[in-house]
Amino acid sequence: MKAKVDREACIGCELCTTICPEVFEMDDENIAIVIADPVPSAAHDTAQEAKENCPTEAISIEE
Ligand code: SF4
Repeated sequence: MKAKVDREACIGCELCTTICPEVFEMDDENIAIVIADPVPSAAHDTAQEAKENCPTEAISIEE
């Protein structure tokens, strides 16, 4: 599984980093970045949850 963040769409709400800190982190510009590529299997569920809860649908996930 691979996660991606659309930098243009991210509004820096930090929700994904709260839900799934194993995979998402905020960068210097307060935009979420992916820090685990591929997503470790233990974090698949929370990464998916982060995607579903992102208010701007900035996160995409590839199986
Ligand atoms: S949940 Fe979405 S909008 Fe919020 S920080 Fe993460 S990628 Fe950005």
